[in-house]
Amino acid sequence: MENCLFCKIANGEIPSNKLYEDDELLAFYDIDPQAPVHFLVIPKQHIGSCAEVDESNSALVAKAFELISKLAKELGIDSFRVVSNCGADAGQSVPHLHFHVMAGREFGWPAG
Ligand code: AMP
Ligand code: ZN
Repeated sequence: MENCLFCKIANGEIPSNKLYEDDELLAFYDIDPQAPVHFLVIPKQHIGSCAEVDESNSALVAKAFELISKLAKELGIDSFRVVSNCGADAGQSVPHLHFHVMAGREFGWPAG
């Protein structure tokens, strides 16, 4: 989608610090980390947020979670938080579905 930051990162127009890439998914480190380990997993296909997940694209979400599990093992993090902000009031600043994966510190609950 035109003018979408994460679509531009997905197609290489904007550089990122990549952890993993295949035809469908990209994982890259967050530019403003909120924990010692903080990376994002995105589908390359533009999906606006969790609110746009449906039967046509949910397989990508399942694959994203498989990737999160694999990367966590590879990075040696066995305790981590996965967050997807959906909508401005929930803190979403980039309107392209992404999963934050954070580790390396304690996290409070409920999330702020
Ligand atoms: P959210 O606020 O939940 O939509 O998350 C968007 C995340 O994208 C924030 O944690 C930002 O720090 C991160 N971010 C914004 N621009 C970039 C970029 N160019 N490269 C990596 N992460 C970014
Ligand atoms: Zn996009």
